[in-house]
Amino acid sequence: MSLTDRKIDVAGGGVAGLAVARALAQRGAKVRLVERAPEITEVGAGIQISPNGMRVMDALGLGDALRAVSRPGKSVALRDGHTGQRIVRLDLEKAKGDFLFVHRARLIEVLAKGASDAGVEIVLGQELLPEASDADLILGADGWRSQFRAAMNPHETPFFTGQVAWRAMIPDDGYPEASVFMGPGRHLVSYPLAGGLRNIVAVEEREVWAEEGWFNRDDPGTVRTAFAEFGGPVPGWLAHLDEVHLWGLFRYPVAPKWHDGAKIAILGDAAHPTLPFLAQGANMALEDAWVLADCLEAMPQATALAKYQELRQARTTRIVDAASANARNYHLRGITRLVAHTVLRFGGTIAPNAPLKRFSWLYDYDATQQVAK
Ligand SMILES: Cc1cc2nc3c(=O)[nH]c(=O)nc-3n(C[C@H](O)[C@H](O)[C@H](O)COP(=O)(O)OP(=O)(O)OC[C@H]3O[C@@H](n4cnc5c(N)ncnc54)[C@H](O)[C@@H]3O)c2cc1C
Repeated sequence: MSLTDRKIDVAGGGVAGLAVARALAQRGAKVRLVERAPEITEVGAGIQISPNGMRVMDALGLGDALRAVSRPGKSVALRDGHTGQRIVRLDLEKAKGDFLFVHRARLIEVLAKGASDAGVEIVLGQELLPEASDADLILGADGWRSQFRAAMNPHETPFFTGQVAWRAMIPDDGYPEASVFMGPGRHLVSYPLAGGLRNIVAVEEREVWAEEGWFNRDDPGTVRTAFAEFGGPVPGWLAHLDEVHLWGLFRYPVAPKWHDGAKIAILGDAAHPTLPFLAQGANMALEDAWVLADCLEAMPQATALAKYQELRQARTTRIVDAASANARNYHLRGITRLVAHTVLRFGGTIAPNAPLKRFSWLYDYDATQQVAK
């Protein structure tokens, strides 16, 4: 089923929109991507791309461009927040594929160049809504507040998870490992990026609602107070904070309906917003983009949209649920915490590859092999 000359409009120039636009243009479609922001940019924050996402980047022909601006991830350590002591280590070099740590802006640059090189027309500073397009197919890659999703799935209400996240960048101090420092009711994730930068995400449980979004500034002193009990390298890192963004974590269910059966579909955060505790939002967006493009190339459009949802919904639900469970595990208190840490430490000693093997369902998945042509 050739896509040649099929007119496809994409709303949103994030990871999902840019990736699907390139994938479809490479298959012959006439793609227009409309982004409401005046330019395609990103806030200063790091992101992890895991082997399942890299398989799509490679299939898009953009893997090496991304590698060139990323730091390869060698390991991730789970640590006791108070002492900084390592509890368990995941050896990422044993995985079947690359883990990359990258500045979000670099990822978006690689994808945006990839889309325009493939012939995608990019329109900036304009909003696209389903009814405002006469294309053969309209894709809502419009993020967690998706209007495309809302049009097909009315009556959904997001709820505050009782957690907030601060994000910041500091100069890298050479601390070798990507690490998660876990304490009661809070945790802090840090990893180095290319270009001498270090990414910090600090999460705290809270009763009070915090505004959802990327651009709420907060006082660095608040983060230092919240993590005052933490040890190891954490106090030194927090002393370097100058610009900090605060973000309230909300949960939405995975959308029940991903398409209208004819000419509208959603992908990325629009279909399945997730908490960030498994670092999979962008990876899922890449997987969606490839599977959707493959379905459209292989089948008539209505069949393709149904097949796309069938292939993606169960997997994304599993990932979103696993990310929510991680939030609970990182924040354990009291005796539960002691037992969990002991089990992890013991398990990591006798079976050092077991922690990573537990996630083979996640990282070994190959989106490029899901649709039989
Ligand atoms: C702190 C934090 C850390 C994270 N870390 C990771 C990580 O390590 N690994 C990972 O895989 N994921 C991570 N994620 C998640 C990941 O960033 C997102 O899941 C991913 O970026 C979603 O991409 P998207 O394209 O679906 O949506 P978005 O990036 O939200 O893009 C949507 C775009 O659509 C535009 N738009 C909206 N409405 C319209 C409209 N009507 N018309 C035109 N344009 C419109 C918006 O301006 C925006 O540019 C993290 C997220 C956070 C918050």
